[in-house]
Amino acid sequence: MAHGPASRFDSDVYARRLARAAELTVNAGLDALVVGTGPDLRYLTGAVADTFERLTALVIPASSPPRLIAPRMELATLRDSAIGDLRLAVHDWVDGDDPYALALDGLGDDAALAVSDPLPALHVIPLGERTSVPIRLATPVLREMRMIKDDAEIAELRAAGAAIDRVHARMGEWLRPGRTEAAVAADIAAAIVAEGHHEAEFVIVGSGPNGADPHHEQSPRLIGPDDIVVIDIGGPVGAGYNSDSTRTYCFGEPPGQIGAAVAVLERAQAAAVAAARPGATAESIDAAARSVLAEAGLAGNFIHRTGHGIGLSVHEEPYIVEGNDLVLRPGMAFSVEPGIYFPGQWGARIEDIVVITDDGAESLNTRPHGLTRL
Ligand code: ZN
Ligand code: ZN
Ligand code: ZN
Repeated sequence: MAHGPASRFDSDVYARRLARAAELTVNAGLDALVVGTGPDLRYLTGAVADTFERLTALVIPASSPPRLIAPRMELATLRDSAIGDLRLAVHDWVDGDDPYALALDGLGDDAALAVSDPLPALHVIPLGERTSVPIRLATPVLREMRMIKDDAEIAELRAAGAAIDRVHARMGEWLRPGRTEAAVAADIAAAIVAEGHHEAEFVIVGSGPNGADPHHEQSPRLIGPDDIVVIDIGGPVGAGYNSDSTRTYCFGEPPGQIGAAVAVLERAQAAAVAAARPGATAESIDAAARSVLAEAGLAGNFIHRTGHGIGLSVHEEPYIVEGNDLVLRPGMAFSVEPGIYFPGQWGARIEDIVVITDDGAESLNTRPHGLTRL
């Protein structure tokens, strides 16, 4: 899939984020955060890098300025981010050097380190061998920041929501009986880009029995005239913030019990969105959707959590799941996507992204929610 040019925020946004990360590092009783490539690095610096076996890491010590450790061969790419403007100290290295010594320089042999989730074990183990204190995950520190979206991030998510809504609005151009799921998916992927995304991150076309498998992507299956079809699509816009929206489609008049079941699902989704507000817990949103389905005898057909946070990653904190007593705060963005699945027969899912506001939640997807007849 083609990557369009990604934008980034002004460098003062990243400067503020780096300062806040250092503050949270101190508060967590850590000596340093070691942030590998991926969404966390992008969040903190705007840099998009994907090195693997050669260590690229942003080190944020509790009591000295942050520094970037990077292979010399990657410097050109990295300078193309906010890193150039931030005047971040860059410690480059070449094959044969010890990048771990560079990363931990000045931190002592009993440094309390926390590493970002996606840092490969290949780097975590050598870091761990250089300190007597067990390495921790940086997740609790980084999620504090990434979970609460600022106005510029919400604007990106809003633009992403509008872009994916435009794709759903055009679904009748491509989704027809007699075509394969794969052919429909290819057209949708092109439209995702045409409507303003950098790329199609995922395109799920689940027709008939395939709709009953939430993990189904697409297949050579021919779509039939009586099929219910689940379309779950999204991708990144702007500085990398993602859309993610699901609608369920049909062609003719659906059998009565299917129409009735999807109507219950629609009520369940709406109940969860209505429950989303500051002070509510993540699990209470899940319960709001689940109880509507349970009253209709459909609890057993809803086989996944109600939602996931979204931002630079399609799936991130907060997770809207039973057992998560995290209290929702303004600026949190997440999906509300209950589904019902009848193995071997059909499935349906309705998904919007919502952002918690001062007194409720704003839905970033506004297409009609019920079974949509094409
Ligand atoms: Zn989705
Ligand atoms: Zn989702
Ligand atoms: Zn998902």
